[in-house]
Amino acid sequence: AWSAATGEREVLLAGPRSFCAGVERAIETVERALERFGAPVYVRRQIVHNRHVVSDLERRGAVFVEEVDAVPEGSLLVLAAHGVAPAVRAQAAERQLRVVDATCPLVAKVHQEVRRYADHDDTVVLIGHADHEEVVGTTGEAPGHVLVVAGPAEAETIQVPDPTRVAYAMQTTLAVEEASETAAVLRRRFPALKGPRTDDICYATSNRQAGVRAIARQSDLVIVLGSQNSSNSRRLAEVAEAAGAPAVLIDDATELELARLAGATRIGITAGASAPPTLVDELVRCLSGLGPVMVTEAGELTEDIRFALPKEVSQA
Ligand code: SF4
Repeated sequence: AWSAATGEREVLLAGPRSFCAGVERAIETVERALERFGAPVYVRRQIVHNRHVVSDLERRGAVFVEEVDAVPEGSLLVLAAHGVAPAVRAQAAERQLRVVDATCPLVAKVHQEVRRYADHDDTVVLIGHADHEEVVGTTGEAPGHVLVVAGPAEAETIQVPDPTRVAYAMQTTLAVEEASETAAVLRRRFPALKGPRTDDICYATSNRQAGVRAIARQSDLVIVLGSQNSSNSRRLAEVAEAAGAPAVLIDDATELELARLAGATRIGITAGASAPPTLVDELVRCLSGLGPVMVTEAGELTEDIRFALPKEVSQA
């Protein structure tokens, strides 16, 4: 009964979607810092890769900077969820900044792994996107010991100094399947390869990918809410397309081109781990304005992970 002709649409909401524990913690860290210490609170890079989150915090007194040298000496600096190289911490210490670290604990765990391998003189092959902030930070843990590969093709050709001393680690927000293919290539080429006990791709990334894959099979179009520079959001659009549904990645409902809705009677919606849940509500409201919609919540996975706040902002 739901048809394009009558303008009726079915909306499938993927689950889980939107904020993960690391993003919630990072945003709350800035909010608490503002409450406790007052504006301005400086934040190095986008606290999380989402335009809406950043402009909202900016309105409340956060000042986003590219590098530490843009922060006045003695100020308060929050480090973003993606993590930083130790060199950045050193610069902050040099400028006598008070640092509050909002690095996601799951990213910090990868940093630790890389350090451990490098301390044992292993070359670490880091599967990830070389220009992504998380990868830049992780690589910075052991400059000279880390080689970045994006996917299986690069894993086929990478050369290491000693093939018996190789380990791998991953960016937390990769496409699950492609990353495991890449790891498989490395394992074949370097039988002594060491790796993490469980994959470095985080629970939020893999859950959101599973959620979007499930609705993509039944959708004429999948809309992913998230910013273009958000790795996990981009992967969601790719996973939807790989499952057979055309997908668009937009920051919010205002960016949706109505032409994309032509002929789409079943619309899947998800949101990246850095995209606020209100954006989903807004999009559904916007679709309801075009004609009747029937909204179904899909996905059975529930997430109950929470991370403690950094100690500087955690006491009441
Ligand atoms: Fe942490 Fe994963 Fe969220 Fe990144 S996507 S902030 S690694 S929980």
